[in-house]
Amino acid sequence: MADQRILIEGGLVYDHDGDTDWPAASDILIEDGRIARVELGLAAALAGQAPPDRVIDAGRRLVVPGFVNAHYHSHDTLMKGMFEPLPLHMWFINALPPQYPRRGSEEVRARTLLGAAECLLAGITTVQDMLTLFPFDEASLDVVLQAYEEIGLRCVFSLQVGDQMAIDRVPHWRELVPEEFHGYLGSAVGVAAGAGPLDMVSSQIERIGHDHRRFSWALSPTSAIMSSPELLAGIAALADAHDLPVLSHMYESRPEVISSRIHLADHGGSQIEYMRAMGLLGPRLALAHSIWMSPAEIAAIAEAGARVVLNPAGNMKSKSGVAPIQAYRRAGVEIGLGCDNCACSDVQSMFQAMKLFCGLAAISDPGLDTPTATEAMRAATQGSAAAVGLRGKVGAIRPGMRADLCLYDLDRPTLLPLNSAARQMVYAETGTSLDIVLVDGRVVVEDGRLTSIDADALAEAVESVIGGLRDDQRVVARRYEAIRPYLTEAWNRSWKTDIDMDRYVGSDRETK
Ligand SMILES: [Zn+2]
Repeated sequence: MADQRILIEGGLVYDHDGDTDWPAASDILIEDGRIARVELGLAAALAGQAPPDRVIDAGRRLVVPGFVNAHYHSHDTLMKGMFEPLPLHMWFINALPPQYPRRGSEEVRARTLLGAAECLLAGITTVQDMLTLFPFDEASLDVVLQAYEEIGLRCVFSLQVGDQMAIDRVPHWRELVPEEFHGYLGSAVGVAAGAGPLDMVSSQIERIGHDHRRFSWALSPTSAIMSSPELLAGIAALADAHDLPVLSHMYESRPEVISSRIHLADHGGSQIEYMRAMGLLGPRLALAHSIWMSPAEIAAIAEAGARVVLNPAGNMKSKSGVAPIQAYRRAGVEIGLGCDNCACSDVQSMFQAMKLFCGLAAISDPGLDTPTATEAMRAATQGSAAAVGLRGKVGAIRPGMRADLCLYDLDRPTLLPLNSAARQMVYAETGTSLDIVLVDGRVVVEDGRLTSIDADALAEAVESVIGGLRDDQRVVARRYEAIRPYLTEAWNRSWKTDIDMDRYVGSDRETK
């Protein structure tokens, strides 16, 4: 299937550098999973050759590069809709895998497929899955990779690792939380029993290798503040050895700034300077969230050619704040976008990410130079592709690039009448106009429905495992209720420490 020759005839083909309001009509020839030609009149030009295996009539269709969801975790896709807004670290205690018993392979398979299905049905053709398997086991990892292979979503995969204890890194936790609960305030991620996280990651890279068509590796220390110098230096060495992107969380929440100033005093209280010292600050590094970054740190990542991946939907749900979008743009930092966990953003939608990117920038700055829809489209495709190490491979419809593209129906209400392809994709579309999705030249969605897996079987699989997860979630929720007063006090107390920076909008607190 993947090696079919496919001719897509007569669509309006979105070109980042062309007319993004009314893209020009063009034909697209796909061979061996890549885009071979993009030009009008291809049917006539191909006359005399063997006919394509399939011709897709794209009359009344807008053809758009597939979105690259540059920050995502598949471990909690079954937990959408479970929580109201909660400060990040309080949400950790409710949602993250180390709070839960080991999940069975049926649940791991169902949740991976469900998240991937949601991505594909929203025009996302690549995802960066920063996965926590707790406790780690190879069999579960193989279930995850097999699920991606089957459904046909492109995946830049990383195992999330860290080796510092949250109780020592979140301000006031150790002093306020009674000792009986300390065991639940440990690591945000899991590591293999008896082996360090570096060994676990490197052995899996060796075992699984790099020779995969839609799968590639990345490295993910969960965050600098949750990682020892040895772990970060080891990740830098692995990144060099395998030429891999490094994706990590950075300054998602305000308490992280306080913690950095306490624990990283040797590095000027800066996680960025800490990463630089460990050999990680460079073009290969992409930092998710990057909300509470100081002006000096923004300048440092711009100079180093590092990138940021913004996740505005999840950041609202975790009360984290608004990233300084204008400061990144002015410094020349390349921006990608992501949707983050289902347990905190509830949905994998790059439409939401793009709209919030433009909207939150607009209300962060009275200047008239905030991002346009065309820029948001670029961030959600090319910017995200660069962040996950796929620059030049995906993110645009150009000869030589992988054939990851989506056809949207121009007769659906969100795109009718077509006043601007870019603006309607960013401000109007929700995914309801999506008709066909191709990943690596394989049709995986047609008529807005998955073709690569049985959606009814997936629904049954989800229903068969959700009862067990809900039972476990109730246990976690009861425990959280007991710890909640102490965590609330820690959160409130952290606001008494002035950090000379604000990333909330619409607040009547002093903002300057
Ligand atoms: Zn994340």
